[in-house]
Amino acid sequence: MIKSIATRTHIALGLSFVLFSVLLLALLLGLVPDEQRAVRAGRATMAEAIAANGSALIGHDDLGRLRSTLRLVVDRNEDLLSAAVRRRDGEVVVTVGDHERHWHDDDRDLSSDSYVKVPVWQGGAPWGRIELRYAPLRHGGRLALLFDPRVHLLLFIVVGGFFLFRFYLGRVLRHLDPSQAVPTHVRSALDTLAEGLIVLDKKEQVVLANAALATILGRTPEKLLGVRASKLGFARAGGAALAAGEAPWVKALKAGLPQRNDMLELSDAQGRRRSFIVNCSPVLGSGGDHAGVLVSLDDVTELEANKVELRASKDEAEAANQAKSDFLANMSHEIRTPMNAILGFTDVLRRGYARSNEDRHKYLDTIHRSGTHLLQLIDDVLDLSKVEAGQLEMERLRVPVHTLMKDVVSVLQVQAQAKGLSLELLIDSPVPTTVQTDPTRLRQIATNLIGNAIKFTAHGGVQVRLALVTDNAVPLYHLHVVDTGVGIAADKLEGIFEPFVQADTSITRQFGGTGLGLAISRRFARLLGGDIVAHSSAGRGTTFIVTFDPGPLTDVPLLAPSAALSAAHAESAALVAGWQFAPTMRVLVVDDGEENRELVRLVLENAGLTTMVAENGLEAVKLATAQHFDAILMDIQMPVMDGYEASRRLRAAGLTTPIVALTADAMKGFEQKCLTAGCSHYLTKPVDIDALLELLGGLLGGTRVAASSPSLTAPVGVPAVLPDAATPIVSSLAHSNPALHATITKFVEGLPARFAQVQAAAAAGDLSAVAQFAHWLKGAAGTVGYSGFWQPASALESSALGGETDAIAPALAKLMALAARLQRPDLQTALTPTVASLAPSVSRDTGAVRSRLPLGDPRMRATVERFLARLDERLSVLEQAASASDITAVAEFGSWLKGAGGSVGFDHFTDPATRLAAVGEGGQAAPLLNEIRDIVARIELPAAATAATSPEALRHTAS
Ligand code: ADP
Repeated sequence: MIKSIATRTHIALGLSFVLFSVLLLALLLGLVPDEQRAVRAGRATMAEAIAANGSALIGHDDLGRLRSTLRLVVDRNEDLLSAAVRRRDGEVVVTVGDHERHWHDDDRDLSSDSYVKVPVWQGGAPWGRIELRYAPLRHGGRLALLFDPRVHLLLFIVVGGFFLFRFYLGRVLRHLDPSQAVPTHVRSALDTLAEGLIVLDKKEQVVLANAALATILGRTPEKLLGVRASKLGFARAGGAALAAGEAPWVKALKAGLPQRNDMLELSDAQGRRRSFIVNCSPVLGSGGDHAGVLVSLDDVTELEANKVELRASKDEAEAANQAKSDFLANMSHEIRTPMNAILGFTDVLRRGYARSNEDRHKYLDTIHRSGTHLLQLIDDVLDLSKVEAGQLEMERLRVPVHTLMKDVVSVLQVQAQAKGLSLELLIDSPVPTTVQTDPTRLRQIATNLIGNAIKFTAHGGVQVRLALVTDNAVPLYHLHVVDTGVGIAADKLEGIFEPFVQADTSITRQFGGTGLGLAISRRFARLLGGDIVAHSSAGRGTTFIVTFDPGPLTDVPLLAPSAALSAAHAESAALVAGWQFAPTMRVLVVDDGEENRELVRLVLENAGLTTMVAENGLEAVKLATAQHFDAILMDIQMPVMDGYEASRRLRAAGLTTPIVALTADAMKGFEQKCLTAGCSHYLTKPVDIDALLELLGGLLGGTRVAASSPSLTAPVGVPAVLPDAATPIVSSLAHSNPALHATITKFVEGLPARFAQVQAAAAAGDLSAVAQFAHWLKGAAGTVGYSGFWQPASALESSALGGETDAIAPALAKLMALAARLQRPDLQTALTPTVASLAPSVSRDTGAVRSRLPLGDPRMRATVERFLARLDERLSVLEQAASASDITAVAEFGSWLKGAGGSVGFDHFTDPATRLAAVGEGGQAAPLLNEIRDIVARIELPAAATAATSPEALRHTAS
């Protein structure tokens, strides 16, 4: 019971009891005045006086005065109830008040508090007595104590004292610093704790705080005493306010149970949020209840910060891991699809399931397409991973962006035309002559965006718009690619910049693509100081806006839009390869295909190299052992001596010059074979001039020049567009470098003769000649920008090599149909000598015969002159052969003339030469030879400084 009494009450009770004991002792010792005794004494005194007075009056026998006296006394004393005078015999002689009623006493002479008997003497002898009846001094019975004033006093003092003590203790305890009650050594131990400690009382007021907490709060421990915990500024983790009943110390007090590991925040003296792990243990009071709570605060701010950092790193790692998984999933999906096609169709072919040659070609087409797609995917992924790994360094060269864009537009024009779309370059504001950027990456961005625009547009066209926007503090170059195509739904618009995302897979399935182009382009644009955004609505076309930083523009002149456009046109046309070499560097170009020789030579000379050519391996060996070359470009399949043998011989002769094998056989084994034969490098045909120059740049120490170079081959990765049967096919190089026009033209014009030749060979069952032709065609056509020939020519080659005689004619027909649509680059509309002209269509006239080649170009002229000289030589030989009836020699001459004559622009030879080639045993060669002679006689070359104008003269000059 006592245990449950609060300390304060307990002490107050104790003190009251002490007071009671002291008072009681004082009472017992009589130290406290006794009112009854005083009354009693008063009564006795009065009785004495009455006795004396009464005795005197009785002695005089004056009972009347005695009565009066007694009446007076009774009247004046309230507690005197009655009085009487009784004689010794018991007779009452005087009565005052209702004495009979009040007087109940015995007859003994002893007086008490209420019954006072005063003896009265008469003449020295007892006469009787005076009786005084007083109101009793104390109550009788059990409750007598209750009416005892001493008890009242005691009770008053003890009870009053108790409350006063209690109140007093309450006030005093409140102002007492309980912490002072803590021994000093304990206090300093508490202060050395790094953990903050506070003791709260039941009212959540601080009764003790250690130094650690005080320091955090920037106050002294004393200042914290009496402060309510809720006023210290605690908040929940994350900063949310702490509701009234939520504080762990409140819970601890309420439940009487420890509260563990609550995470709270508190602002420190500097206003910084700190995190604490809070533990609360209730403190038992002396009465066994919870008198307070001990709160420990463990500062985990650093840990929390680390945890946040750790969580962020973990999230990042998880995101990276997820991205890796997504990437692998995507890659595996992207690789699997074309791989399935490749493996599936290869298997079909391997098992001989293909029913017809056409099927076989179809399967090979699919395999090839899938392979091309894979290659593009790998290139894209490598680019993307380089950007992601931060390994992609952007070059900063001065670039005429308008020219570069014109160039890209020119290259892609072929694709646009093939789809019947317009593709135009517009300039919307004055633009700098050059800006500082990375031409290669900018070209890649533009090629991708414009390529996409063409890919996803069926009607209308594509506009490429350039502008320099100077609204902002930093000017930005803007490139807009606007199309009228399928558009992109609004919710897909941002997603298309994510790797592997395609807005509409069904459309993309139709057109191909990896879904990486935009992801790469945007990253490039950002590395170039800008970005790419897209605006579109489904079905309404799309606009891609590329921005990039043009670099410093002070002192860079601005070109008006029209001036920029014409400059772009002119410069784009005059663009040279992006490499420059010292002219002392000599390269030997070995190739039996004239087109290839010409093209490679042209490009190399443009880059400043000195070149020599050889038509076969033997010539090459002779030249290279006699003169010094810095590099040799070696075709592999050649008549007389092939590239393997030539390389072997050159190495055997101790030559260390780099030999670059160029072959249309792009299979792995061939590369090894070339390297074993002694070649040091290997490139495939059609020759990617950029790659060739890059290689030579490394080998011969060339310098990369800032001018962007047109891609001289069909853009890598762009599937060769084979337009429908009605559209003319334009060389992909037609728009890039006019210097190549002659070579392209020569190829186009030479084709009819070549076809006639191969048809004859096919008719004669000469499959190896057919295979040779096909091999030549797939290389040469690609070289001059007609990549569409690659596949059907490869098919023809494999049919010829495989002895599939049935397949030859359809394959040839396919190739001829394709050739019939070739468009000469210098002619915008007319289709020049095509295979359609295989029928003898060159009318025999008598006028002057002129080459179609642009003989203003001295190199073209020299080629034609060389042809005429050789023709003259061969005619003389042939006339002897014809007379000796050497049919083989005659046919061989016919074949040669068909091809070579056409190549140098003399179509007049095609008909007689074709017929000559077909002359069999007993055939009439002589009239045909005359016809040819006649044409030769009519040949006219335009006047040139040193040019001979007749074959006769040429015979001397050219030989
Ligand atoms: P892809 O190789 O598939 O073309 P990109 O990253 O270049 O990859 O483009 C991603 C997707 O964005 C495309 O598959 C296509 O759905 C959409 N897209 C890009 N350009 C256009 C455009 N001009 N018009 C419509 N859709 C486009």
